[in-house]
Amino acid sequence: MYELKVITQFSAAHRLENFYGKCEALHGHNWKVEVFLQGDRLDDAGLLLDFGVVKSQARQVLEEIDHKYLNELPAFQRQNPSSENLARYLFERLAATLNRPGAQVSRVNVWESDTSCASYYED
Ligand SMILES: [Zn+2]
Repeated sequence: MYELKVITQFSAAHRLENFYGKCEALHGHNWKVEVFLQGDRLDDAGLLLDFGVVKSQARQVLEEIDHKYLNELPAFQRQNPSSENLARYLFERLAATLNRPGAQVSRVNVWESDTSCASYYED
């Protein structure tokens, strides 16, 4: 298998409902996002997928949430914008635009600090 990883980031505010602790209050993070793609086939140029395509799609999806109050976005009306839910949201959005025969988004890691990371992947 081949695997690609693209690292990107966004900044936003959130608060966690039904959570009793510091994250209940409004606060912000500079999230680091790692997008992984996997596949067993390369194209005629020897690429799994052009890094530029992955980066531009990731940029488009992240622009919608960058510098926003995440709790107010439609995607997070029914679920907390936790790092776990952000990882699934980004996975689903990126898989919808990047997946193609031979290359699929395989994992999204969302780092809310240097030491805390949530991942989403599907078996
Ligand atoms: Zn937080």
